[in-house]
Amino acid sequence: MYFDIYVDDKKLGTFGHPNVENINIALSGAPDQNYVFAGAVCREGETQYHYHWLQEEIGHASQVRIVPVESGLVPPPIKRFEMGRAARKASEHNICEFCQRNEKEVPRLISGDSNRPGICSDCVELCREILRDEA
Ligand SMILES: [Zn+2]
Repeated sequence: MYFDIYVDDKKLGTFGHPNVENINIALSGAPDQNYVFAGAVCREGETQYHYHWLQEEIGHASQVRIVPVESGLVPPPIKRFEMGRAARKASEHNICEFCQRNEKEVPRLISGDSNRPGICSDCVELCREILRDEA
């Protein structure tokens, strides 16, 4: 999903990503300053990233136009950060919620479901040791 953004008919750029989950183009208005913002939540493999491309000051009477386009040359983002919580959520069936390792990193994973966390055999063993020491 890609968009061209124009301010007063001057093109600011093309923004987007092949795997956009949520694109956000926003205006922020205050009495003395107005800005246009462009960002998106994008999926790359198992991980969600938040892209932030643009924060541009505009005039208080500026007109902003957003035009969907097929594709385009997208500049590198100003900020790009991994959305860790969302990524964990996305693969919650395949990780141990206690040590955060995935099923390939643990001897055995006892999977949870949408209401219950998964736990690995190492964490179960650790809990057994803690309970045994307390007994
Ligand atoms: Zn574990």
